[in-house]
Amino acid sequence: MNMQKRQNQAPLEFKIAIVGSGPAGFYALDALVKSGRRGIMIDMFEQLPTPYGLVRSGVAPDHQDIKSVTKIYERNASKAKFRFFGNVQVGQDLQKGDLFKHYHVIIYSVGTQTDRRMEIPGESLKGCYAAKDFVGWYNAHPHFRDASFNFSASKVAIIGMGNVAADVARMLVTETKRFAKTDIADYALSDLQRNKAKDVYLIARRGVLQSAITPTVIREFLKIEGVDMVINPEDLELDNASQRALDHADKEMIQGFEMLQFLSQRPIQGHPKRIHFLFKRSPTEVLGLDHKVCGLRLVHNQLVEESGGAIKAVPTEHYEELKVQSIYRAIGYLGIPIPHVSFDPKRGIIPNRQGRVIDLKTGAVCPGEYVTGWVKRGPSGVIGSNKADAAETISHILEDYPETSQLEPSEIDNKDIVAWLKENKIPYTTFGDWKFIDDTERAIGATKGKPRDKFSIVEQMLELINTHRNFSETNG
Ligand code: FAD
Ligand code: NAP
Repeated sequence: MNMQKRQNQAPLEFKIAIVGSGPAGFYALDALVKSGRRGIMIDMFEQLPTPYGLVRSGVAPDHQDIKSVTKIYERNASKAKFRFFGNVQVGQDLQKGDLFKHYHVIIYSVGTQTDRRMEIPGESLKGCYAAKDFVGWYNAHPHFRDASFNFSASKVAIIGMGNVAADVARMLVTETKRFAKTDIADYALSDLQRNKAKDVYLIARRGVLQSAITPTVIREFLKIEGVDMVINPEDLELDNASQRALDHADKEMIQGFEMLQFLSQRPIQGHPKRIHFLFKRSPTEVLGLDHKVCGLRLVHNQLVEESGGAIKAVPTEHYEELKVQSIYRAIGYLGIPIPHVSFDPKRGIIPNRQGRVIDLKTGAVCPGEYVTGWVKRGPSGVIGSNKADAAETISHILEDYPETSQLEPSEIDNKDIVAWLKENKIPYTTFGDWKFIDDTERAIGATKGKPRDKFSIVEQMLELINTHRNFSETNG
């Protein structure tokens, strides 16, 4: 078909599949709605029966306000020609090839479903956990609800000094009554009541200036009651490399540094619990006894400025051991591959040029495939960071289509994806089903004084929906 003919056909119907319903997927929807492009039809596929990705299953229970961002997502869901298909995992229930029989374009916004390992001896001992699992567990994510953690540990190490590490630290030292009025999973609230953590060590491999905890999150440490913040004043002395970095630092870096200085100057009150901020130390071995964690070996680092100005941690000959009984690694998330979709295993992302998926080996653009969010740029940035990211991807889709679409507009399978899902017996949830789950969770939550009481078992959610559908059919 020649270009002219393609362009003439373009406005008729433009079917787009978005895979993943986290912030990136919903900001992609937002950008498509705002584009005003006629003929757009958007279907979103999500592996869980419920939408919103890490807003539902990552954001900490004491950050309830942040979760209200979903109201904006919900508004867009009702504006566009939009359908939600929950409980459909692309790569398992439905393959890329199946999608390309029904859609002109696929947008991957699947986030980063696993995490980086420390790759040190002893990492697999009982008591050494991924922060990702702990976060999913207290947030009622169905994949992690059966995880268990050693809450009899009085000394706990958290590897990494980013905002996820900070979330884990807060969850481990905050009085559980503070979470009673949040959407924390009931089972997590009950288990955390047995939590004996007294000393929590937050461990950064680089210096105080390079801490990845943002100032707003550092500020939250000031509000935790009954917990001393312990920072060795020597750690706040800047070496030459960090001093130079401070001279060129942005506002956020300076604010973070000042807040940590402030925390270190507060007198120790002798509270029953402490968070210790340790800098310039890297884990080298998890120590074990009877297959369980009994300690952590750390090497002290010195900071070295690389040619490009980046500050790197280099190990010294100086080691120390911390007698901890459990360890949480919070050193970053990592994407996983989807069958038949280009993937960069080193970076854990779908390789792309400003959102256009490319073949890792040849660098050639993969027609009709696009990416946005954490799986596009790596696991960094807050919820709002995904908005501009999605806008960039959508602008390229609108620029490219129909020239680089995998399908001619006329080649789309006339059979709707609903028929395909039914034929293949995939029990999917719709946005209406999600709204019913949402209403039910809120109603149950209200009886307990909580914003919602989350379902964490997929089968339970599907059963609830079936009962509701049967009831609606019977009663008109
Ligand atoms: P995700 O939110 O991970 O969404 C990806 C979605 O894709 C998920 O719903 C997943 O189930 C689905 N999916 C994956 N694979 C498939 C598949 N094969 N088929 C179908 N669906 C699939 N930011 C803030 O601003 N404030 C906070 O308080 C905050 N807290 C955070 C706490 C934690 C623990 C973490 C890890 C991050 C936090 N963030 C916070 C950052 C924010 O959550 C991210 O910026 C954002 O969620 C990334 O969006 P995403 O859509 O790329 O990925
Ligand atoms: P992050 O901000 O990248 O922090 C990761 C931490 O792990 C850094 O301190 C890093 O040190 C360290 N690290 C990495 N590899 C290591 C290794 N091999 N050994 C020891 N330490 C290592 O990642 P994150 O905490 O997972 O957060 C991801 C994103 O989500 C961030 O953008 C964050 O702001 C956002 N988030 C926001 C909130 C919020 O707003 N409340 C909450 C949670 C998450 P180096 O700096 O030396 O690499």
